[in-house]
Amino acid sequence: MKDNIQSIVIVGAGSAGWITAGVLASRFPTRIANKELTITLCESPNIPTVGVGEGTWPTMASTLQSMGISETDFLKECDVSFKQGSKFQGWDNDQGIGFYHHPFDDLQRSIDGVFAEFWSEKSNTQTPEQAFSKQFSVQSEICDRALAPKSITDAEYKSSTNYGYHLNAGLFSSFLQKHCVAKLGVNHVLAEVNEIRQDEQQNITSLVFDNGEVLAGDLFIDCTGFKSLLLGETLGVKFKPVDDILFADTALATQVEYSDPNGPIASCTKSTAQDAGWIWDIGLPSRRGVGYVFSSKYSSVEQAKVDLLRYIESTGGSTDNLTIRKIQFTSGHREKFWHKNCVAVGLSAGFLEPLEASALVLVELSAIMIAEQLPLTHNVMEISAKRFNDKFQYRWSRAIDFLKLHYVLSNRTSPFWLENKKENTIPERLQELLTLWKHKVPNVHDFEATGELFQATSYQFVLYGSSFRTEPLFELEPYIKNYVTENIRQKNIRENKLLSALPTNRDLLNKIYKYGLSKI
Ligand SMILES: Cc1cc2nc3c(=O)[nH]c(=O)nc-3n(C[C@H](O)[C@H](O)[C@H](O)COP(=O)(O)OP(=O)(O)OC[C@H]3O[C@@H](n4cnc5c(N)ncnc54)[C@H](O)[C@@H]3O)c2cc1C
Repeated sequence: MKDNIQSIVIVGAGSAGWITAGVLASRFPTRIANKELTITLCESPNIPTVGVGEGTWPTMASTLQSMGISETDFLKECDVSFKQGSKFQGWDNDQGIGFYHHPFDDLQRSIDGVFAEFWSEKSNTQTPEQAFSKQFSVQSEICDRALAPKSITDAEYKSSTNYGYHLNAGLFSSFLQKHCVAKLGVNHVLAEVNEIRQDEQQNITSLVFDNGEVLAGDLFIDCTGFKSLLLGETLGVKFKPVDDILFADTALATQVEYSDPNGPIASCTKSTAQDAGWIWDIGLPSRRGVGYVFSSKYSSVEQAKVDLLRYIESTGGSTDNLTIRKIQFTSGHREKFWHKNCVAVGLSAGFLEPLEASALVLVELSAIMIAEQLPLTHNVMEISAKRFNDKFQYRWSRAIDFLKLHYVLSNRTSPFWLENKKENTIPERLQELLTLWKHKVPNVHDFEATGELFQATSYQFVLYGSSFRTEPLFELEPYIKNYVTENIRQKNIRENKLLSALPTNRDLLNKIYKYGLSKI
């Protein structure tokens, strides 16, 4: 084999394939222009993409920007709206009463825990107006009013509050394809991989397509979705299920028309608890994407359909002529993500139920880390693979902990929820943290790795949005109380200004379609 990695081959053209292609190609424009590096993405014309995955994290804005994508074009072409967090409805009790927000606000000072300490001291006497997220983040109120994170005068990717997107996954892949091929020099091959050739060390050397053509490469990126054709099927890297922790294994997904096409577009993903799982509700400009994620052990598909339709009706949506797609999955991930000269990115690496929309961010982070390992030689491939595997093993484990947390905190009593609270289904690290947090709030020292997926702030939003309470053993120092009180005062001033200045999601998007956002 040649020593330098000069040819990267990506198999699969879903969001994972094109995001990876875009991140890599935008990092090395000169090497690509000089033909020192080629990036080729191949896809089967016969195997469709999964076609779901509509919620992103704020990381997507910087990922798109790094690829040189115009935010205006993206917003116009992918049926995109702005997302500022998630709202969990009815997760606490069987009556479905109550909700909490997990906004994207990173609350600079909350990672050291002082906000949570201040709040915990009075938590037993708090009114709904003093809910944790409401007291410290401007975004609960912004989400409840379906407001945008910015105004038409803010340039592309600039904003008043932190935001991600809701988007149409199919349009997104086509949009990225156009950009990657036309602007970034990515080669696109439309053919199905029929055979994968390897050398005596098991490294992949080339792909043979159904039209008989052969494509050689140095580094292969497996974006073939649940199939995991390269890493799983060819290299035999096993799948490690975590369905003993996260029980959901089926999704019923549908699209719902707005009763008023000019009505509000939600600025957060709504996640509503059900007897055997939860329903996502995502507002795009042209329609809503709604789906029930549930465990087939605790609900039949027929019952789940009834629950889904009931939910849609309860939100004013029409259930006439709905097409409902069933998607089955097992939460879990590969034992390794990079083996020999092959890295899996996206569903081929693994999938966890989409409760906190953590799949695309893992794709972005994987692509960024692969880019950071380049230029790569075969000599260091094993070291790079080990570093990548360690990092992502940690990230997947922390994502599992955080998703499980939502279930553990619930007081719902149907069998699905009771099973979720059983100790033998809760990862040990999460159990330890929950014990610690009885008297100490989550802070940065509980999450010390670089690039943690979920920071202490996220835990605080979910713990204190639920009925979990920390009982501090000591009273807060007066100077800290003064500091936090002043922060709340300033937050209230900022919130009032934003509430009167920000347009609704719908109004801003209409203006962007008409005038566009200014470039930075
Ligand atoms: C119900 C559900 C809800 C989700 N919600 C979210 C969400 O809100 N947020 C989020 O971040 N993620 C979400 N996800 C995950 C998200 O959908 C995926 O991470 C994302 O779409 C990436 O998929 P992919 O590109 O890995 O695979 P796919 O979209 O399945 O693409 C696979 C590609 O591989 C190609 N392929 C397969 N075999 C071959 C072959 N032999 N030769 C050539 N090409 C081949 C196919 O043609 C296709 O192009 C959700 C997933 C599910 C199931």
